Amino acid sequence: MPRPTAPPSGVVVQVMATGMCRSDWHAWAGHDDIAFPHVPGHELAGVVSEVGRGVESWTVGDRVTVPFVCGCGRCEWCLAGAAQVCPAQQQPGFTHWGSFAEHVALHAADTNLVAIPDEVDFATAASLGCRFATAYRALVGRARVTDGEWVTVVGSGGVGLSVVMIARALGARVVAVDRNPEALAVATALGAEHTLLADGSDIPAAVAELSGGGSHVAVDAVGSEQTCADSILSLRRRGRQVQVGLLPPVAGHPRVPMARVIAWELDLLGSHGMAATDYPAMMQLIQQGLLEPQRLVERTIGLDEAAALLPRFDHSPVAGMTIVDPSR
Ligand SMILES: [Zn+2]
Ligand SMILES: [Zn+2]
Repeated sequence: MPRPTAPPSGVVVQVMATGMCRSDWHAWAGHDDIAFPHVPGHELAGVVSEVGRGVESWTVGDRVTVPFVCGCGRCEWCLAGAAQVCPAQQQPGFTHWGSFAEHVALHAADTNLVAIPDEVDFATAASLGCRFATAYRALVGRARVTDGEWVTVVGSGGVGLSVVMIARALGARVVAVDRNPEALAVATALGAEHTLLADGSDIPAAVAELSGGGSHVAVDAVGSEQTCADSILSLRRRGRQVQVGLLPPVAGHPRVPMARVIAWELDLLGSHGMAATDYPAMMQLIQQGLLEPQRLVERTIGLDEAAALLPRFDHSPVAGMTIVDPSR
């Protein structure tokens, strides 16, 4: 593919590391509206290699990462620091060619780029843009988790394991759920107090038993009718559900247990990435060593391997994150 050029107000970044996640698989499987030919990849870190007209804050050579949701930089939501819900948002790897490539074009650089501190490496920075930042915002910005609360996370992949680590750093007690015992072992290593194997047993009943009546906060990090219901029904009265998993409507719109939501006054919170403006607080915790996203990186592969892995990524047995290094 030809090398991209910097759009007005945008940059080109030389990709040093880029994560592969379930959203890439959803796009590959046809769950998103994508024009072909296409280049996926949305969790990237690298070095600015070209600067477009009108960019004020960035120069060639800067080490940067970017949220997977890039705001337009001009609308009321972007100006209020909420680019994650920008109506004119761009998502590399979805709305335009992404980072499974040596170079990627990014829009509205002054709104969306995040500087990578010297002590944070590219693979770690790439691991933030989608799943880790999403988990951070879900717990901190949306559910407002406090010390001593119970947090149940359904799904212990990239988002779920990030939830475990961040919830522990906030002083919460964690129940992790997954259908993969290896993922649960990683969750335990990251500080989950209890793990539950999703083998068809009654997950909400088990959570209620372990947590003395249900969880204060639950996160559906998978996005299926079953996991969404398990997550909601694991809550105690007045609990907060954060929906992060995508619930694609390919199998029909999911049934959600709204009777319980009403009767127990549960809060249903959506969470959609995190704006660049909210990164510094998270980056500071990483610099201080209180959060260690690098522990979630399971393996690094090249682009050839990535192409072979993507079609079967939905059933990938690997716990933790897969990072692609385009220079391999
Ligand atoms: Zn905007
Ligand atoms: Zn992702």
